Amino acid sequence: MASTPPGRDRAGATGPSPTARRPLIAGNWKMHKTQEQAEEYIQALLPRVSAVDGVDIAICVPFTDLQPMIDSTRGSPVEVFAQTMHHDPEGPFTGEISPPMLVELDVRGVVLGHSERRAFGGETDRALALKVPAALAAGLVPILCVGETEKERDNDETDRKLRQQINEDLAGVPDEQLTSVVIAYEPIWAIGTGRVATPQQAQEAIAFIRALVAGREKHAAEAVRILYGGSVKPENAPELLALQDVDGALVGGASLDAESFAQIVAATGPSRLAAASAARR
Ligand code: PEP
Repeated sequence: MASTPPGRDRAGATGPSPTARRPLIAGNWKMHKTQEQAEEYIQALLPRVSAVDGVDIAICVPFTDLQPMIDSTRGSPVEVFAQTMHHDPEGPFTGEISPPMLVELDVRGVVLGHSERRAFGGETDRALALKVPAALAAGLVPILCVGETEKERDNDETDRKLRQQINEDLAGVPDEQLTSVVIAYEPIWAIGTGRVATPQQAQEAIAFIRALVAGREKHAAEAVRILYGGSVKPENAPELLALQDVDGALVGGASLDAESFAQIVAATGPSRLAAASAARR
């Protein structure tokens, strides 16, 4: 998926874009949904997204839902991601799951560095410097989450924090593989709080992240997909997804309901282009 970034022509966004980046809408279920609830959800989601074109759709589900969701989404546009993994292929790490275990199930990718896992799951920048290349080496698409706390934003430390996370977490990724990583800018103060970043805050931070990638490799920066995450809802999605540097969304709470997640997926379509052309006028 991420290795084939071409897709929708983004020239219709807020300005000419040098490259086509295919949007990705990923739903992060966190610790929600038993297998029975997951099955009910996916049967509601699939008909709602079957006609959607030009966008990648992913659900990031708890480990216990991986196999049933892979079985239920086979042949559909919905891809299944895990929410974390260990970097080693095997070892004495109780409770952990390895890259080959995910690959064996046909999992498409994995969320890494979510602020909740950074806070209580041991996903330090040092660990992520091993996990991101390990995911790529296994053929998994990593969604690397980065973002600042409210205090860091108030202290004008957002750029410093993003620079540290991007530099350290991607240090082990060879330049030619940078475009296979998906980056999610998730300001921590906006996650699960209902406080969404303003379009200006989202665009500025994501453009800054793209510039950091350009510091590594200019062409990778044009092609790498960078998502926004933090209280995305059907109501605010069209405006956020129309931003020039925003290539999709990582959605928590609003992804738990099939109808609202489908509405966010649809916001990458005509409404997104309409919002972009309104912004240009
Ligand atoms: C998330 O969990 O990554 C997230 C962005 O959550 P929410 O959409 O609920 O803020």
